[in-house]
Amino acid sequence: MLAPAAVAQPNAPLRLDRDRFTVIGYPSDEQLMRSLLGAAVERDSFPWLPRPRARVVIAVAPDERRFREWIGPAAPEWGAAIAFPAQRTIIMQGRAAGSDAGDPRVVLRHELAHLALEEVLGDLPPRWFHEGYASVAAGEWGREEVLATSVALLLRGMPTLDSLNATFDGSAPRADAAYALAHRAVAELAALDPERGLTLFVGYWLETRSMEVAIRRAFGVTQAQFEERWRQRTRRQYGALAIVADLSLAAALLMTIVVPLYLARRRRDRRRLEVMRAADAAAERAARESALAALLGEEEGARGAPGARGAQGADEPGASTP
Ligand SMILES: [Zn+2]
Repeated sequence: MLAPAAVAQPNAPLRLDRDRFTVIGYPSDEQLMRSLLGAAVERDSFPWLPRPRARVVIAVAPDERRFREWIGPAAPEWGAAIAFPAQRTIIMQGRAAGSDAGDPRVVLRHELAHLALEEVLGDLPPRWFHEGYASVAAGEWGREEVLATSVALLLRGMPTLDSLNATFDGSAPRADAAYALAHRAVAELAALDPERGLTLFVGYWLETRSMEVAIRRAFGVTQAQFEERWRQRTRRQYGALAIVADLSLAAALLMTIVVPLYLARRRRDRRRLEVMRAADAAAERAARESALAALLGEEEGARGAPGARGAQGADEPGASTP
């Protein structure tokens, strides 16, 4: 059931509850909040994972200032949203977000997939798997387009999976390529078993706590063989460009085409980059939790803040929302 809108002061925070989701925000974003809640409830399962059960708080920030305040110095994904798995909280930009923030329903699905994966596998998955999984679960197939114009891929060839982990928070063009490559890796892994996808793999991973062993058991290949396959197939698909990059003359010619694209992209992403660089992990948790606690406290003091530690118990009996 949707909670009725608070008897209203126009600027009082709004809270919507349905199933395992709570969406909080301000009336200016009410339409968006309802749409997000509807989307989350309607499609509350994620490929190859058991249905998630943990309660989730989705906070919709009314403006950039509040968004920054709530996330603390953490770097948001594409400037649009961020998930905090330990707190089962997702913080998103409201309708004031720029168009580069993407479709909010896709963004939310991506972040919810992170939480769903974390609910099953905890901290086992490396970053590349987390991002690749979230991207596949959210159906972000358009991501691969970026590979066709990826300067890094052109100049350096295919990276290793491990080296991707450090790239997601880097400069925007590299991060975009890392997301696309991670997406491909998870999609390729799932394609190794056309019938069951990652279902068996996830089970083995949880059981043995080893990705290597799980890949071998589920797909009959080693992790190194899988990685080689991913590199080869990606190279084959996008690789006309990457292969030519070995020839310096051809690379120089290509650069005259690619550099203007690259610069245009950089300009577009500059604002986002500045914000990401300002990140500082130390102050993050306290700032976020206190801001969220304050927001929720205004709405329902007795329940405690979902952003705070207690929220992890939100799916325990007695703490659930009517
Ligand atoms: Zn992500």
